[in-house]
Amino acid sequence: MKTAQQLAAELVRPEIRAINAYHVAPATGLIKLDAMENPYRLPEAVRAELGRALADVAINRYPDASGAVVKTALRDTATLGIDARHALILGNGSDELIQIVATTLAKPGATMLAVEPSFVMYKANAMLAQMRYAGVPLRADFTLDTDAVLAAIGREKPALVFLAYPNNPTGNLFPLADIERIVAAAPGLVVIDEAYHPFAQVSFADVLDAHPNAIVMRTLSKLGLAGIRLGYAFGDPAWIAEFDKTRPPYNLNSLTQATALIVLRHADMLNEQAARLRRDRDALIESLRAMEGVEPFPSAANFVLTRVADANATFARMKGAGVLVKNLHGWHPLLSNCLRLSVGTPDENAAMLQALQPAA
Ligand SMILES: *Cc1c(COP(=O)(O)O)cnc(C)c1O
Repeated sequence: MKTAQQLAAELVRPEIRAINAYHVAPATGLIKLDAMENPYRLPEAVRAELGRALADVAINRYPDASGAVVKTALRDTATLGIDARHALILGNGSDELIQIVATTLAKPGATMLAVEPSFVMYKANAMLAQMRYAGVPLRADFTLDTDAVLAAIGREKPALVFLAYPNNPTGNLFPLADIERIVAAAPGLVVIDEAYHPFAQVSFADVLDAHPNAIVMRTLSKLGLAGIRLGYAFGDPAWIAEFDKTRPPYNLNSLTQATALIVLRHADMLNEQAARLRRDRDALIESLRAMEGVEPFPSAANFVLTRVADANATFARMKGAGVLVKNLHGWHPLLSNCLRLSVGTPDENAAMLQALQPAA
């Protein structure tokens, strides 16, 4: 009889055999500034309200499969700017929406295109969906090489393009006019990933109606609800209707839906936290600029990509000092000696700067 290990080696897709499971660094006891989480917890009164609401959820029943009430709450949240003409789809995090969109468009031979470095889950989902993948490098300063992207679009004719606006892990906001040129030139669907919308204060949603081959994708994760896993995308109902066929039934659990309803009632509080994080991000960039041998890049997100002399050594020293950030050295040639620093509370940011400062 074959062992499970032998059977797995024989039966599992070779490209899956070749990769590792997504690694999340253990953070116990460390100041956690590696994952763009909102450092602020909900106020006591909101937590109490949430406790009462969650106690009432009928978890013996399947959740509302369409998430209708959550969609209404998102539409009613004025700062999100979701137009009544656009349909909405909800995902178990926007990670799931990336998978749904890729799966839906993955005809045999279809190509996904993204810039690099960008969010790693785009390429990962191209592989999972068995799409071809084309990556177009950013310039060395992480600005968008629009001509290179347009040339690649002409060459590859991608069925699907992902553009993060602002981009992760670089933090910068590509010019809207350039994104519109790319969308206009693309023969396929372009997903504008606005995971950092609360910190960017600009949105492709404003011009979405002019672009029938684009949709906007967002998440509540970076706004302060990473734990509930709620992403959403909106655009022309013709797109959303197709994605709804690929979406697993009941992908949004009842506790997530109930939590979103309560917290979205307090959207003002989350927006104030985002405003605070934007101010603290700008202060952090100023402090980094003043440091010898440290080069922060512009950010419209809640993190700052920063080049240091020796990222591996700096990362290890910071971790030794109790501060966990993201070491991107080795991820992509353009990211050599780069660390990604999430913006935390003022105290956390001070501790991070202290740990980062090279010994005199
Ligand atoms: C964090 C992030 C996501 C994923 O967010 P989830 O909703 O937590 O899955 C998607 N896109 C970008 C660019 C991100 O940085």
